Amino acid sequence: DDRIHRITSAIRVIPDFPKPGILFQDITTLLLDPVAFKDTIDLFVERYKDKGITVVAGVEARGFIFGPPIALAIGAKFVPMRKPNKLPGAVISEEYSLEYGTDKIEMHVGAVEPGDRALVIDDLIATGGTLCAAISLLERVGAHVVECACVIELPELKGRDRLGGKPLFVLVSS
Ligand code: 5GP
Repeated sequence: DDRIHRITSAIRVIPDFPKPGILFQDITTLLLDPVAFKDTIDLFVERYKDKGITVVAGVEARGFIFGPPIALAIGAKFVPMRKPNKLPGAVISEEYSLEYGTDKIEMHVGAVEPGDRALVIDDLIATGGTLCAAISLLERVGAHVVECACVIELPELKGRDRLGGKPLFVLVSS
C-alpha cells in the first residue's frame, strides 16, 4: 500500500533517545508531511467510521495529535487521558508499571458514560502498559472498548499480549 509506505518513510528513527540504547520512533516528522499525516488519519477513519464509536480516547501526549481529527471525522467525542494532576475536574485514575517504578493516567469523571463505545488512540505501543491502563479506566466507567489503535507497534516487546484480548490495529511495525 502506497499510503503505508509514505507513512513509514515519514517516521524518523533517533538512536539513544531519551536514553542510550533506545531507538526512538519520532512521529514529528510525519506531521511535517501533510500527505503522509492525512494518509494516517484517513486510514483510521476508513476503519472506524461505521463501527458505532461514540468516544475516541487519546493518551497524552501524542494521542492528542492523532485522536481529535479521527473523532471529528467519525462524529465521536474526544476524551483526553492525561498524566497525573493536569485535569482540573474530578478524575478517576489508573496506575501502571514501568520498567522502573509506576506511572498513572487520569480521565475526567463523566466524560465517558456507561454504554459508550470507545476507541483508544496512541502513537505507539511498546510494552502495552499505557494502553492497558487506558482500557481499564474506560471499562471501570462502563464503556465498551471496541479497539485500540496506534500508528506504530514495536512487536518484539509483545505489548499486544497485555491488552487482555482487546484487538489492536496498527499501521506500521518496527
Ligand atoms: P508502553 O506503555 O506501551 O510501554 O509505551 C507506550 C508509550 O510510550 C506511548 O504513550 C508512547 O507515546 C511512548 N513511547 C515509547 N517509546 C516510544 C518511541 O520510540 N516513540 C514514541 N513516539 N513514543 C514512544
